[in-house]
Amino acid sequence: MHDLLLTGGRVYVDGRFEDINIVIDGETITAFTRETKEAKKKLDCHGLMILPGLIDPHVHMELDLGFATSCDDFYKGSVAAVRGGVTTLIDFLAPIENETEITAAFDSRLNLAKECVTDYAMHATLGNFKGDVVRLIESVKQLGMNSVKVFTTYSESNRMVSDQVLTQLLDQEIVTMVHAEDDRLVDSEWQEIATYESSRPLDAELSALKNLLLKQGRGTLYVVHVSSGSGVKLLAGRDRVVIESCPHYFYLTKDSFKGEYGGLYLLAPPLRNNAEREKLNKAIENVYTIGTDHCPFTKSEKLETRSAKSIPKGIGSIQYSFLLMYDRFGEQVIEKMSRHVAEVFRLKGKGKLAEGCDADLFLFDPLGETLVESDVETEDYSVYEGMKLKGRIVSTMLRGKFVMEAGKIAETSGRYIRSECDEGACSSTIL
Ligand SMILES: [Zn+2]
Repeated sequence: MHDLLLTGGRVYVDGRFEDINIVIDGETITAFTRETKEAKKKLDCHGLMILPGLIDPHVHMELDLGFATSCDDFYKGSVAAVRGGVTTLIDFLAPIENETEITAAFDSRLNLAKECVTDYAMHATLGNFKGDVVRLIESVKQLGMNSVKVFTTYSESNRMVSDQVLTQLLDQEIVTMVHAEDDRLVDSEWQEIATYESSRPLDAELSALKNLLLKQGRGTLYVVHVSSGSGVKLLAGRDRVVIESCPHYFYLTKDSFKGEYGGLYLLAPPLRNNAEREKLNKAIENVYTIGTDHCPFTKSEKLETRSAKSIPKGIGSIQYSFLLMYDRFGEQVIEKMSRHVAEVFRLKGKGKLAEGCDADLFLFDPLGETLVESDVETEDYSVYEGMKLKGRIVSTMLRGKFVMEAGKIAETSGRYIRSECDEGACSSTIL
């Protein structure tokens, strides 16, 4: 007798849809079958797609900027995530300047993440690092991470990585995640909201990317939130270079910064012009992962000041990330938001529907429609408000249990997922 049988759905396995049933025992997918098996519970999924639980590689819950804190804590943010089909989040440790600080940074972030209703993993983050890179990487791996994030900008808040540390990192067998903007071309004192994009121009991104390619070593270079089509073109087709972009760069342009509510859209890197946005849309095939950079602030926090410099940068809408991407690009976005992320960050048992993998999945009605509303549980606005998107996320399952079922959130708690991989355990077999 099995625990659960999902029947009648169109199941996304190995990059295609199969009309098969999924057998789940405990937290794990134990079989795919075309027969009816005995199970304690059966769920009819006719008319629905069954998709792998999404992994958002880039979120900032309860991010303390010093003068403001992003308004989604791990609980609220992860509730929004499961409404969007996301079952694993990857957040960031606070920036450190020496490897001796990493355990404290890890412990304090993990303590906040206990509230998460999804599973979660972490990236280490460096500020103006002055320690020992090799020892740092050892500690990072011991703590179950395979990624380190650095900034090539934010010198004003002492978060910029030195050229020397960056070069050393890129030569380590690890994923070096880079926020790529050339600090020399960024004006962090910029006040005017309408013209905010000029303070962090496209050239700053492109210059930083060119510099990174010159420094590339033996490791994997993962460029976070590439904001432009030109940026993607520059990086495309290179070995061990992973390109991440975010839904907002596909949808919005710098024109949003104009007018009374321009402050609501402020984030870094900024939204670009329409030509760059269109070029990015055409280059979707070269974008390997989609992260949201989920970092919401409330409407009042965003509109409180009329100075671009003082507005906390970041936006939310994690619950709409899949719908936004699916509406525009269809099925090709599924793996960019699941398997690709699991592979890059070596999250075993995550990111695909396969025998032996965690039963992380969501039920998706492709014929449904979703109206983007202001996000009630999280920030009180959405930059996509009023948009009608194709499809509807019906329910989301984390390790064999529904964490969101027809809109209702269950009392569950997520788990820290260590980065490791044992390929053999995740092969899929159709019986
Ligand atoms: Zn970010």
